[in-house]
Amino acid sequence: MTETSCGVRTRFAPSPTGFLHIGGARTALYAWAFARHHQGTFILRIEDTDVERSSPEAVQAILDGMAWLGLPPDEGPFYQMRRMDRYREVIAQMLEAGTAYRCWCSREELDAMRAAQEAAGQKPRYDGRWRPEPGRTLPAPPVGAPSVVRFRNPKDGVVAWDDTVKGPIEFANAELDDLIIARSDGTPTYNFCVVVDDWDMAITHVIRGDDHVNNTPRQINILAALGATLPRYGHVPMIHGPDGQKLSKRHGAVSVMQYHAEGYLPEAVINYLARLGWSHGDEEIFSRAQFVSWFDGEHISRSPARFDFDKLRWLNNHHLKAMADADIAADVATRLAVRGANAGDAAHAGIDLAAVCGLLKDRSATLEEVTESAMMFYLVPHLHAAQLAEVIKPEVRPALAAFADLCADLDWTREAIAGAVKQTVAAHGLKMPQFGMPMRQLVFGRPQTPALEAVLVLMPRQTVIQRLRAGLAHAL
Ligand code: GLU
Repeated sequence: MTETSCGVRTRFAPSPTGFLHIGGARTALYAWAFARHHQGTFILRIEDTDVERSSPEAVQAILDGMAWLGLPPDEGPFYQMRRMDRYREVIAQMLEAGTAYRCWCSREELDAMRAAQEAAGQKPRYDGRWRPEPGRTLPAPPVGAPSVVRFRNPKDGVVAWDDTVKGPIEFANAELDDLIIARSDGTPTYNFCVVVDDWDMAITHVIRGDDHVNNTPRQINILAALGATLPRYGHVPMIHGPDGQKLSKRHGAVSVMQYHAEGYLPEAVINYLARLGWSHGDEEIFSRAQFVSWFDGEHISRSPARFDFDKLRWLNNHHLKAMADADIAADVATRLAVRGANAGDAAHAGIDLAAVCGLLKDRSATLEEVTESAMMFYLVPHLHAAQLAEVIKPEVRPALAAFADLCADLDWTREAIAGAVKQTVAAHGLKMPQFGMPMRQLVFGRPQTPALEAVLVLMPRQTVIQRLRAGLAHAL
């Protein structure tokens, strides 16, 4: 899409019928980034006219998801339910102008119409019986009967647009019947509200999922009837699961806030979603700012993207590694608290959580994994006597006792600890794992940790000595 920078206006228009899922988030991201790229305006519009299915909780979930991802709208949120008067006004104008008309067909008549068409092997469609035509006399409207308002769709020709993602698309007008734009109770219908909003909000680029391709010819015809300038349309293919099926909860079509809960970083999710169905050369790992600078709407894939969980984890690890240790620690502290470990407690005063996070981030895909590993610094190991006896083999016991003694006078540095470990292992004729495993169990309550000296140095010296001695004393 080559555009002049000024005046680009995009929108994200979710229906608040559930959380913001990964597909919606990608649509929002593309619309946001395209506006940012052109120093334009990104608008959030809540399409809440389906009152049965919309809820305030879902609106909040969408706002939360966008805030977490860092996609703030420049305008809005606008709510369609608050714009009813405006839709009614446009309907009245269209009736006046003759681009829309009233139809008094009852449900029974429509059913009969459909049955007759199906019996004749035709596609069911409204037959235009209330459509005014030059020289045609319509029946008198039934007195007191309800009517709907239909759009007077052009009968001939085609409606065509050059889709910014899919290329030229064309529909024959003969395929489109006269859409109901207002129900008998006067409420406007979905496609009509979208049209009025895109028009009023002066949207220049509609970027949305390709499940809307079939709505576009109708929307274009109504916009044209209103004399509106048409936006450009770009329909982004769906996201499929790794198995090529429609993305479902099983695949990760969950709320973006679920990714937050699982310890993914917004920067990584943005990077992942950006790359899911779009490319910039071979670039895989990039920042939000880089994405914005590259995203001109070109190079969006025409075929469905496949969700790849391992890739998201891989990207998250990259973004995690790039994060400052103190920032990771600030987040992890909250997650530790959820697990009942308050890193700020006096009991943990000797533990530098930022340093712990610095050590663990390389080997963790998510903040939850960092937290899970960090717990070994905050949980007091509780091995009962029999377990201790199992862990502390007779041939290792003297080495553990000797190491505890050595620690008392040791420079508490990684190098010095590594030296002391080597010395102890050699002096007692042990192999490293024979010594390392019980050490880890006694001090950290788990058999596996990063390199022994790397974790020991982050634990206060007194805690290490005390845990070793307590373990040795309590073993059966
Ligand atoms: N409200 C529609 C949806 O959530 C989007 C409409 C549009 O982008 O035009 O699918």
